[in-house]
Amino acid sequence: HAMRQALNHGHMAVHYQPQVDMATGRIVGAEALARWTHPELGEVPPMEFIAVAERSGQIGRIGEWVIREACRQIATWRRCGLPSLRIAINLSPLQLNQPGLVDTAARIAAEAGVDPGLVLFEVTESIAMEHAERTRLMLREFRAHGFEFAIDDFGTGYSSLAYLQKFQVRQLKVDRFFVQALDEGGPEARAIIAAIIDLAHTLAIEVVAEGVETQLQASVLRTLGCDQLQGYHFSRPVPPEEFERHCRALPMLSPA
Ligand code: C2E
Ligand code: CA
Ligand code: CA
Repeated sequence: HAMRQALNHGHMAVHYQPQVDMATGRIVGAEALARWTHPELGEVPPMEFIAVAERSGQIGRIGEWVIREACRQIATWRRCGLPSLRIAINLSPLQLNQPGLVDTAARIAAEAGVDPGLVLFEVTESIAMEHAERTRLMLREFRAHGFEFAIDDFGTGYSSLAYLQKFQVRQLKVDRFFVQALDEGGPEARAIIAAIIDLAHTLAIEVVAEGVETQLQASVLRTLGCDQLQGYHFSRPVPPEEFERHCRALPMLSPA
């Protein structure tokens, strides 16, 4: 019930976490992450309220609102002269079953005057692979409208390599579990990430590492040829005004 009110009363917001390009050290994109501040409970973690939204049938409405917010923000940033940024939006498995999602997203982007190529949807590896044929058809439809896709939390599920190729996604996002294991210094995490990067690059897919928290992780990921980094080491997810300040500041990494 509170969630139903939240959108109307402005208790929900979208925060943006920078994605830093390894070659230039500059911010090239952001992941849009939903935030809910309940008047009495305070900040409700997204893992919790997204699950409630799914169970109570509200994920469609919230998901659509996130797409609209993100498109409005892309247009605003363009008007105030920021270089064009690609914004990643998470899709819940239930949204994938929602009839007309592609058309809705296309209409929202068009109304905001946003190039759909600047909007990238994230689906987790396990969801994408669970119904691989359906995913392939859906991604084809989204691509026909110009949208991009990323496979989220990559490396934690079981992937069909044949489908990975057929999906023609733009990015794989290496799960933060592997990134954080780099600190333990053993060879395993490094070897797994190196293999993911090799595989992705062979298929002309970019690799984004998530959950980068330390300088050590960032420098190992650079050595391994990772394309983009995202994590607390650079910035937490922040409100749009703060994100804009990050974009106007010095590069977040020294160029390669
Ligand atoms: P996710 O898609 O894997 O998003 C990345 C999560 O990792 C975010 O958590 C982010 O704040 C966190 N993170 C980023 N950098 C670091 C780091 O360096 N260290 C650590 N430990 N964590 C980091 P958040 O914002 O709490 O979101 C949790 C999950 O909720 C997301 O996981 C996503 O599955 C879901 N979610 C968030 N917003 C939306 C939304 O608009 N729609 C849908 N369907 N799901 C959403
Ligand atoms: Ca994500
Ligand atoms: Ca993720």
